[in-house]
Amino acid sequence: MTDAAEPLHDLVDQARQTRVVVIGGGIAGLVAAWELAKVGMTVTVVEASARLGGKVASTSLGGREVEIGASCWSTRGGAVRRLVDEVLPDAAIVRPRDDSEWIAGLARDAAAPLPVEQVLGIPANPWDERVRRIIGWGGTWRAYLDRLRPPLTIGTQRSLGRLVRGRMGDKVRDRLVAPLTVDRFGLLPEDVDVEVAAPGLSTALTRTGWLGGAVADLRVDAGGSATEGLDGGMPLLVAALRERLVARGADIRTGARATGLARADGAWTIEVDGGADADAATVRPATGDDGAAEASDAGRLRADAVVVATDEAAARSLLGPVLEDPAFTAAEPAGIAREVVTLLVDAPELDGAPRGVHVHAVPGSSRATGLVHETARWEWLARGLGQGRHLLRIAFGGPGVAPATAGVSDAEAVRLAADEAYALLGVRLGEDRVVDAHRGVYTLVPPASALGHRERTDEARAAIARAPGVAAVGAWLSGSGLAQVVADAHDETDRLRRAVLWGGAGGR
Ligand SMILES: Cc1cc2nc3c(=O)[nH]c(=O)nc-3n(C[C@H](O)[C@H](O)[C@H](O)COP(=O)(O)OP(=O)(O)OC[C@H]3O[C@@H](n4cnc5c(N)ncnc54)[C@H](O)[C@@H]3O)c2cc1C
Repeated sequence: MTDAAEPLHDLVDQARQTRVVVIGGGIAGLVAAWELAKVGMTVTVVEASARLGGKVASTSLGGREVEIGASCWSTRGGAVRRLVDEVLPDAAIVRPRDDSEWIAGLARDAAAPLPVEQVLGIPANPWDERVRRIIGWGGTWRAYLDRLRPPLTIGTQRSLGRLVRGRMGDKVRDRLVAPLTVDRFGLLPEDVDVEVAAPGLSTALTRTGWLGGAVADLRVDAGGSATEGLDGGMPLLVAALRERLVARGADIRTGARATGLARADGAWTIEVDGGADADAATVRPATGDDGAAEASDAGRLRADAVVVATDEAAARSLLGPVLEDPAFTAAEPAGIAREVVTLLVDAPELDGAPRGVHVHAVPGSSRATGLVHETARWEWLARGLGQGRHLLRIAFGGPGVAPATAGVSDAEAVRLAADEAYALLGVRLGEDRVVDAHRGVYTLVPPASALGHRERTDEARAAIARAPGVAAVGAWLSGSGLAQVVADAHDETDRLRRAVLWGGAGGR
């Protein structure tokens, strides 16, 4: 063996001897586990629910598995694509055949498509016929004042709502921008950070001197950012990660909830409720005894490092006592209540996608915030379900507004969703058309573009970074899109991995 190989050998040995427990088996936890298992570390994943994937999920509707959680990713940054290429190299990556957006809830129950030339609903040209249909003549004239007003100087307004209202008036804010931000992000336009939601818009505004011009500029420069998905659905990615982890000897325990964390003598102890018995849902490593974090006694795991990959409430309660930082423990988890009812319907009238793919309601005009016509969006899904059969996702619950479905029975929620789908799509969908349905109850995590998100998460990250051998990942820190979650989980785990192997802040 050469001198150069010696330290490398030590490093490999050290990686093998490092036991890491990942708490939470959503996409963030799985990415973290994979990054650690890849270098030979001994990884145990504990997941509270009966399955992996978290908000990447599917269910059986009408006898077929269909997605009920995340169904695609943004190509921004490229992290999800890199992950898919790595763990699922044979996957068929697809783009939506249609991703058009409509606004519903206009006068006399009308709906109209968004103009093509827009960013976050802000039109490049207020005189576009599509814009006029949504905001009327009065709104169009007011929006045109943007062109005549003195140019805005850079960086003066980070709030999307205030920027749009100031430049283009209330109608653009209320009927073009708010329907998108409320439906997509669960945020009022005032609470969206322009620079994060539409990078480059402020610079373009300084360059062009007016907001419409900046939008036109940005659309020309934009290129690149798009949406991709998997033929067969995102749960394929979860299955691939699970398979890779098992092949690397990871110990994956479902039905195992972490209830406590403690650190003593340079090692972590993780209290775990459930999942200790070899039940059907538990995947044990394929080989010998070198594959699991040492179980000191039933319900307790010992590890050299821990990755907390849960939702915010669980992360704060697990990490709070360890960090001994009252501000960290006391912070209220961010997010809004959202319910999503997925309807499988027999409705040949929808074959032609009468209102495109995304229909956003003008806030206050409907009990739903909007709808996604999934079969209009994904060719593979439509093909699989067959002609005349459609999958619709109807969302409820916005900022400061509890979901209209909250507290009602499942049957009532389905009825409500079918009524709202009728209002949003203009196609009557009586209960007799509903073949099957699923109701999902979530806390919608703010996106990275929520104003104040960065400051809030920087504080949490700084507190976590003070403890050795621990990392926290997940949507509550990165912002909610898969592109952010995967990229951040990758980077944070890399930080932990390096610290553990080479020492320094965050290491053992
Ligand atoms: C309906 C819906 C649709 C979405 N669609 C898209 C989309 O199309 N594209 C997109 O980019 N994003 C989408 N998102 C957002 C995206 O899916 C999520 O941000 C992302 O999946 C979150 O991953 P995560 O691992 O951080 O959290 P989660 O998926 O919530 O995973 C956290 C896991 O931790 C587990 N856990 C919690 N506490 C404990 C504990 N004490 N012990 C052990 N385990 C614990 C939970 O059971 C869960 O499995 C959507 C979100 C929702 C709700």
